[in-house]
Amino acid sequence: MLQRRPFSERLIGTSLTGTKLYVDHVARVNEGYVKQVSALDQVERQIAFKNLDEFPLYVVASLSTEETLAQWKADATMHTALMVLLVLGLGTSGFWIVRQLRRSGEANARLVGYQDELQVLNRKFAAQAREDGLTGLANRRELDRVLAEAVARAARERAPLAFVLIDIDCFKLFNDFYGHLAGDDCLRAVAAAIDGCLHRPADLAARYGGEEFALVLPETDRAGANVIAHKVCRAVRDLGIKHAASTSGIVTLSAGFSVLGSHETEGCTALIHRADEALYTAKRSGRDRVEADRDEDMHDEADVVSADAPSR
Ligand code: GH3
Ligand code: MG
Ligand code: MG
Repeated sequence: MLQRRPFSERLIGTSLTGTKLYVDHVARVNEGYVKQVSALDQVERQIAFKNLDEFPLYVVASLSTEETLAQWKADATMHTALMVLLVLGLGTSGFWIVRQLRRSGEANARLVGYQDELQVLNRKFAAQAREDGLTGLANRRELDRVLAEAVARAARERAPLAFVLIDIDCFKLFNDFYGHLAGDDCLRAVAAAIDGCLHRPADLAARYGGEEFALVLPETDRAGANVIAHKVCRAVRDLGIKHAASTSGIVTLSAGFSVLGSHETEGCTALIHRADEALYTAKRSGRDRVEADRDEDMHDEADVVSADAPSR
């Protein structure tokens, strides 16, 4: 060995011809690269060698594997650390996103639930706004609306329309005798019986006010209205609600009805007025009966009808 860097006095002048590097490689090929444990310091090295063309010398450059891999190891450590941070970051943000998605899904489900509840409540309130609180029948406002529509349609389609006003007989005496709570029960029972007499979807039973009820019967002529009015009176009589202060001993009804013929163009007010007059006639004639309005065009048709008329 002629020269070495780093310089080592101990090694300058020593013979390398017996080393494994020389015997296996330098002596055999002009130049090359090997990895082996150095004969000089017993350290594993990456060794490059070359025989010089113009001199009987060869040059060796070597780095210990440790040194060679040092930068790679540092890079790898840093990259691994970065990857771990990245994975942790991705994992954390992924977890956060999934949690947010789940929360927003839950919030959406709750929102849909609230919307459903709101719709149910809206429908309930809308129904309540149309209903009479005591009897569950349509209230006066709903009656006015339905009657106006029915009158308009009847006029448009030249179809008959009947309107029936019903009043409980001697109800003030009932209240006086049995008390207002019993009166309320009676009103509910009468309302249910009246409602049970209507079967067409377009028919409407409403509480007109106090102990008075009204029926709107589209597509119903004089004969049909007469039948329905009697059916209602009979249904309430059949309830057999005791009324000790009444001459009949049970709760009875009086009813008056009016009919809008296809030839007529009058409105709701006149229709109600005629039914009211007919009801007044029924009361004046002794109660517990049905009276029809005066049919101007058909005097031959019975406008005072028996309470025993056949049911439909
Ligand atoms: P008529 O046979 O002539 O109809 O006599 P009536 O006693 O039934 O009629 P009137 O108009 O003199 O009395 C109606 C009574 O109805 C008076 C009122 O206290 C009662 N009434 C009205 N609304 C209600 C109610 O919501 N509950 C109760 N319990 N009574 C009511
Ligand atoms: Mg009355
Ligand atoms: Mg009455």
